[in-house]
Amino acid sequence: MILQDCPKTIRPYLLPKQKGKLIYRCLGCGLESGIETLLYTCPSCSQVLLIYDLEFDRLKKISKKTWQQIFNYRKMLTIPALKGIYMYHEFIGPIMPLDAIVYLGEGHTPVVEANAFMQDRAGIQFYFKNDGQNPSASFKDRGMASAISYIHFLLQKGYLSDVLAICASTGDTSAAAALYASFLNPRVKSAVLLPHKKVTGQQLSQPLGSGAKVFEIPGVFDDCMKVVEALSDTYNVALLNSKNAWRLLGQESYSYEIAQDFEFDMENKVVVLPIGNAGNITAVMGGFLKFYEIGIISTLPKIIGVQSEHANPVYRYYLEPDPKKRKFVPMTVKSSVAQAAMIGNPVSMPRVIHLVDMYNNMSDKQKTFFVDVPEQAIMDWEILANRNGHIACTHGGESLAGLVVARQKGIVDKNEIAIVDSTAHALKFSGFQEMYFKKKFPPEFEILPNPGIVNTPELIRPKDLKKVPEPGRPLKGTELRLFISRISEEIAKILELEKV
Ligand SMILES: *Cc1c(COP(=O)(O)O)cnc(C)c1O
Ligand SMILES: [Zn+2]
Repeated sequence: MILQDCPKTIRPYLLPKQKGKLIYRCLGCGLESGIETLLYTCPSCSQVLLIYDLEFDRLKKISKKTWQQIFNYRKMLTIPALKGIYMYHEFIGPIMPLDAIVYLGEGHTPVVEANAFMQDRAGIQFYFKNDGQNPSASFKDRGMASAISYIHFLLQKGYLSDVLAICASTGDTSAAAALYASFLNPRVKSAVLLPHKKVTGQQLSQPLGSGAKVFEIPGVFDDCMKVVEALSDTYNVALLNSKNAWRLLGQESYSYEIAQDFEFDMENKVVVLPIGNAGNITAVMGGFLKFYEIGIISTLPKIIGVQSEHANPVYRYYLEPDPKKRKFVPMTVKSSVAQAAMIGNPVSMPRVIHLVDMYNNMSDKQKTFFVDVPEQAIMDWEILANRNGHIACTHGGESLAGLVVARQKGIVDKNEIAIVDSTAHALKFSGFQEMYFKKKFPPEFEILPNPGIVNTPELIRPKDLKKVPEPGRPLKGTELRLFISRISEEIAKILELEKV
């Protein structure tokens, strides 16, 4: 669609202009710093930062109706810079010129309603939002599009020259970082640090394929994170972990899309997502809060953060009902199939505490909840979902298992509608499915396959069949006919087929 075909009243708003005044604000001491330099922590007290727009209130001058039309018409335009997360430019990066935006196809992921069987089993109407359908197959692309576009902007402005982008990762951050950095090759190079043997083969192949320098480090993610922090404190590198507040701005797009997917009606909606380093839940709360403040949505949806029993520091923190008595205690994690969320000391914990307070205060009641789930439930729900039309990863299974726990605990009731985050594509974590199907889970996972949903391939090789085709050596004539009939017979027998 071209601009001239949009209604006259909306046209002036559709191409965003560079507006606003963004600053980093420290969550510890409140210090504000300019965004011309890349900052990850407060120069004064070392706390984490969030990015705020000092002129945010200007957006209130536009009516709810007009905003909704702006996003709906913008969605139909064919301008690449506005096709991804920057469709919500005014909220994600109002200072960004369109020619600095790096768009690789991220965002606007499908929302797929579960079938009747699954809704019945879960006891609630729900949808998966498939963030595995992002370019590097996880939601991390949303944040990376924002962080890399911003670096691109700094390069264009001459504030930065060559950049070495670096991150620690449970797998998906490095895939996204390497992909987005590679688009700006050779001015931006990337290096990623992964915990040795703690990422899947698919996840390892991704940054390698994108040309990043890949380092494997003994230990778990929390150890890699400490090394990356030391590197970024001492050397001139651009940190792409979610400590980088630009990542969070991009990930807010998940909330804006959900609002738009449901015609901006958040009444009775529940958003369920897994928590690892807690960047995503921070961004999702932040996004809904912004839309709510401007009046684009009239209700804040319920938020349910889910963790595995093997890595549940955020859940444990909120077990204490009295906010004054809560104390955050980092934990040592155990093996989890929700491997990207296997984090004992989430970097964004101070942000979560800050935003949860704000979210509940703005709603005048508790709207944020935390649950934990056993490893067994994660695998069982993932596999069941995928046997019913979905492409959920283990973290999608974790979210769904969390929704079921929330239903059982009365945190949500059956009249609500849940949007469940499948944060990555099933294929990235197919190794866990294989362990389940082959009954090969190491004992520390505490997972026993449910025989009802185990599935394995069956080789058809009748003993009486002397000749079978091979590459470059096809069968002919009688041999071919015999091959086809014997193989068909065997299959028909197993499937108990009846003759027509
Ligand atoms: C990173 C990641 C998470 C955890 O998100 P956080 O922002 O670290 O809480 C969950 N699922 C997948 C697939 C991820 O890649
Ligand atoms: Zn500070």
